[in-house]
Amino acid sequence: NSFDDLPLSPKTLKGLKECGYTKPTDIQRETIKLGLTGKDILGAAQTGSGKTLAFLIPILERLYCKQWTRLDGLGALVITPTRELAYQIFEELRRVGEHHEFSAGLIIGGKDLKFERNRMDQCNIVIGTPGRILQHMDENPLFDCVNMEILVLDEADRCLDMGFEQTMNAIVANLPAKRQTLLFSATQTKSVRDLARLSLKNPAYVSV
Ligand code: AMP
Repeated sequence: NSFDDLPLSPKTLKGLKECGYTKPTDIQRETIKLGLTGKDILGAAQTGSGKTLAFLIPILERLYCKQWTRLDGLGALVITPTRELAYQIFEELRRVGEHHEFSAGLIIGGKDLKFERNRMDQCNIVIGTPGRILQHMDENPLFDCVNMEILVLDEADRCLDMGFEQTMNAIVANLPAKRQTLLFSATQTKSVRDLARLSLKNPAYVSV
């Protein structure tokens, strides 16, 4: 039970080792194995389960395998309920993805929209909060999702509890239908199931 047993690139394995991560948690092992096949996933996972790396590693691996470059634009979008979570995910991505060549961006509001706007055509991986992401979709021509391959809905139950249901539905409706979606939620309420039905195709269930 080591990250070396998973089919990961040397770049990712090196990043993990340097962060001191040697063994995948349960959710990581299952999600990474399934995620690398391109399958949609509905993950029942609490904060602290290691779910962040469970979705960041498939993102890094899949974009790396496709030899994704800046010119390909946005490849993966991660939606999370709060700025703090977005920032933590961004930092974890920077640490574990240290040896990959990609550019990542945060869309979290609180800053001038222009500040975020101008960088958006450079980003391969964007992490953000729902309201601000929809605002970019509506107003920023540089935020271009046509090539996007992987969508992550992190802490979906919290996003919905915060009143973002319509915003999330609108974001999902704007994204390419041909994509992989990973949805994580600590609880499985009716509104989570509704969002799952709308955003996932024939998902695998991962529960820890
Ligand atoms: P998360 O549930 O993604 O917020 O992660 C919770 C904490 O577990 C974070 O502080 C991570 O740094 C840590 N963590 C995640 N994956 C591993 C792992 N495979 N081995 C040790 N620690 C981990």
